[in-house]
Amino acid sequence: MAKPDPTTTNAGIPVESDEHSLTVGETHSPILLHDHYLIEKMAQFNRERVPERVVHAKGGGAFGRLEISEDVSRYTKADLFQPGRTTAALVRFSTVAGELGSPDTWRDPRGFAMKFYTQEGNYDLVGNNTPVFFVKDPMKFQDFIRSQKRDPVTHLRDHDMQWDFWTLSPESAHQVTWLMGDRGLPRSWRHMNGYGSHTYMWVNASGEKFWVKYHFKTDQGIEFFTQDEGDQMASGDADFHLRDLYEAIDGGDEPSWSVKVQVMPFDDAPHYRFNPFDLTKVWAHGDYPLIDVGRMVLDRNPANYHTDIELAAFEPSNLVPGIGPSPDKMLLGRMFSYPDAHRYRIGPNYMDLPVNQPKSPRHSYAKDGPMRYTHNGDQPVYAPNSYGGPAADVERYGDIAGWSASGEMVRAAYDDHVDDDDWGQAATLVREVLDDAARARLVDNISGHLANAVSEPVLVRAFEYWRNVDKGVGAKVEAQVRAKQG
Ligand code: NDP
Repeated sequence: MAKPDPTTTNAGIPVESDEHSLTVGETHSPILLHDHYLIEKMAQFNRERVPERVVHAKGGGAFGRLEISEDVSRYTKADLFQPGRTTAALVRFSTVAGELGSPDTWRDPRGFAMKFYTQEGNYDLVGNNTPVFFVKDPMKFQDFIRSQKRDPVTHLRDHDMQWDFWTLSPESAHQVTWLMGDRGLPRSWRHMNGYGSHTYMWVNASGEKFWVKYHFKTDQGIEFFTQDEGDQMASGDADFHLRDLYEAIDGGDEPSWSVKVQVMPFDDAPHYRFNPFDLTKVWAHGDYPLIDVGRMVLDRNPANYHTDIELAAFEPSNLVPGIGPSPDKMLLGRMFSYPDAHRYRIGPNYMDLPVNQPKSPRHSYAKDGPMRYTHNGDQPVYAPNSYGGPAADVERYGDIAGWSASGEMVRAAYDDHVDDDDWGQAATLVREVLDDAARARLVDNISGHLANAVSEPVLVRAFEYWRNVDKGVGAKVEAQVRAKQG
């Protein structure tokens, strides 16, 4: 057998031993501070972790590709959506509230973050496995997440905090209904849909604008765990989803998703029955049918979890020509908070890391800073300049994917559409989408979550909350919880 490579220090200097520290004498021997290799090993070990993500900490992912089989060029000029185009992709799946190491099968929405390495820069679509969210204003996001995390005194997850926040925030009803239903506990990451959730803007080559929502429908079929199955799996294999994805791809079973969009003509927005930019609402399929776009396939496991997945940085602010934001306040808030989180968690030059680097040419004026290892040679460091530095191509890229806005500054909800109430879409889900068996499981899941874990005033509010969604569901939840209380 060939001799292995010699161990070296980080500086490439061959070391004397993998096992013994340098000491004076052979008995009762003190360690010497100048054993540089020992010190380097200890210091490096202390710095192996980057701070875990404050949300979506536990996850896994894989590389793959986006293939466009249909022609949606009438809606967007974005390079990655042109007919026949294949674009390299990275997808990271995660739970939301659990820390690194927490079980994959706790009931929680799942992150479904996508990075597409397009020919015009990275396009990130930071989605979830649900098309809606708990809140619609970024002012409430931090409070919402804290209510789902740990109690400041006991450091325990606390259902009372969760229901207290939800029942005081009725806009959460649609997402909570979803969460307590079958899809709140997917069997695996392969067996769930992904949704862009926010509304985005698409712009075609003529400058025409549309509103768009993304749907990634699993080709593996939807599968879920019941609460009991999920609980058992949480103790049997806390990493079940991570393992499932890795082993499927490793065995050549490449998961895929059919990519579809809903497209709304730009001028429909003010008149649609729901506010189309409200993240707690969907656009009914009957109003805006799904349009086929292509498929996304995952075909390659990470070569190294830390460099490929833990250091991957997704941000909704990475929008490429032909795609823009919308007036969705949550989206606009996330466009700041995600890159800000990466600067804190990974460092200001997180875009320099191989997993985050675009595969298209980069001509940025950014420079220097901690851990920067790319540079632009003798390119001028300011713009404008007369020495050949990059210059914005206003003719080609000067159009702003925006909309017109004016008026007094206010702090207010934007519920100004006919059907903008908090309960209607949750009620439709309960009454028109779920069948009797799914409705019964919904009631079981809610009452199991509430019983013996929530204080009386919050409990009473929770019964009212569910009666507002659906009288029958509310009554059954109350009866089951009271029965469990004995
Ligand atoms: P549709 O009947 O056209 O669509 C219903 C949707 O519900 C389907 O996309 C289906 O997904 C999904 N679904 C099925 N079972 C569940 C479940 N247990 N939990 C969550 N979703 C489920 O109706 P509308 O478009 O008029 O919407 C009605 C309601 O359906 C909405 O209020 C919303 O709660 C839910 N919904 C709507 C979506 C939308 O974008 N319009 C997307 C997903 C859900 P699938 O096709 O994969 O089975």
